[in-house]
Amino acid sequence: MKKNARTLIFTDLDDTLIQTKRKLADHSHLQTGAVDREQKPLSYTTPPQRLLLQLLKTGGAILIPVTGRNQAAMDRVLLDDFHSYRIVSHGAMVLTEENQPCQTWLASQQHNHDLSAWAEHLDRLNETLNSYIKQQAFPIACHPITEAGMTAYLSIKADRLHYQESQLDYLMEHLKPQLKQGERWHRNGANLALLPPYTCKAKAVQFVSEQLQIHEHELVMGFGDSVSDLAFLRQTHFGLFPIGSQLDHWMGT
Ligand SMILES: [Mg+2]
Repeated sequence: MKKNARTLIFTDLDDTLIQTKRKLADHSHLQTGAVDREQKPLSYTTPPQRLLLQLLKTGGAILIPVTGRNQAAMDRVLLDDFHSYRIVSHGAMVLTEENQPCQTWLASQQHNHDLSAWAEHLDRLNETLNSYIKQQAFPIACHPITEAGMTAYLSIKADRLHYQESQLDYLMEHLKPQLKQGERWHRNGANLALLPPYTCKAKAVQFVSEQLQIHEHELVMGFGDSVSDLAFLRQTHFGLFPIGSQLDHWMGT
């Protein structure tokens, strides 16, 4: 084996390395993994998650988060395992080691996509979705997520105690005629997001892999819980998903 071959882990965060208490049967031995805007504990790590992180750290792995969180929400994650690039907002933005927007990535986003036209389009869809939500009195909130002036995606979050799956189905179905080519949905539980084509975890992972000059002899792994994570997991040598996750259920028996 070539000397100094690295181990690189592209990893989702929520429901992969951290999660809210609601999703855990055993609340003992938890540690805070992320805080909310008021700095109160919101997400937690379990002992197995911490052992996994410890194992990777001991092995000298380079961890790169690949998350739907925007930069501000990423900054509320307390795990101290990330010292390289960070992929945030479902792949719309790549942050450097200094936690600053990567200018090379931003330039390629601007070069390849008409971001102002997409921003206008997503604003219109946001208005449409909010009018449906109001008309139907759905317990759902919708708003655009932006990164460095770029509209990254529409976040559509249902109140998990009061929503019905059919309400998210309704929004997706009614918006269908207005979608542009290349737009995709990310859906997992009460969370829905409408992603423009430049918001793609797999594309951002490819970019970071090129920036880090990852070679074939190096080990690359991907961790994720959502079906929408599969595309970036497939760009690695080994994909890992939590048992009981959406990806696990999707694979069936
Ligand atoms: Mg996740």
